[in-house]
Amino acid sequence: MLYYAQSISRLISELGKLPGVGPKTAQRLAFHLLNTSDEEALALADAIKEAKEKITYCSICSNLTDEDPCFICTDTKRDEGVICVVEDPKDIVAIEKTGEYRGKYHVLHGIISPINGIGPEQLKIKELLARVKEKPVQEVIVAISSSVEGEATGMYLAKLLRPLGIKVTRIAHGLPVGGDLEYADEVTLTRAFEGRTELT
Ligand SMILES: [Zn+2]
Repeated sequence: MLYYAQSISRLISELGKLPGVGPKTAQRLAFHLLNTSDEEALALADAIKEAKEKITYCSICSNLTDEDPCFICTDTKRDEGVICVVEDPKDIVAIEKTGEYRGKYHVLHGIISPINGIGPEQLKIKELLARVKEKPVQEVIVAISSSVEGEATGMYLAKLLRPLGIKVTRIAHGLPVGGDLEYADEVTLTRAFEGRTELT
């Protein structure tokens, strides 16, 4: 049964692929877009197109960026001797919002998860290793959620980095187990950084 004109149906179907958007919301968004001016609706299409065309991975830290290296890697006021390792670019946003951390970052784009077939070689770990060998680093802070896979990833990094004379620490367990960093509030996250412990 056909309920919509084909192009409306396509729009609803595309919107419905977005995370957290069910069929009803997809329909509501589609009709909202059709009711707004051409200019407004196309501004959204343009923003998506521009972001997809311009955003790449930073060649140093693997964060999403539209200039390479990214603005964090080129910021000379930040401490180059400390690298905070995160799972996802969204985690950088969460940590930056605390306004407390002044070091650099490295995005792994996932965590080690044998169940899902994700090993160290699928993550940006080679890049991290190359990076710390090129420029001296005193501390690597592992800021990954405290799931079993998160713990395993932290231990793996410690085993790899400690022989290079780098102190490897892990943020405190102020975070819910398996909880994403992006859902932690800023105070909790700041405390988690302050209470970090060394991985041995
Ligand atoms: Zn970068």
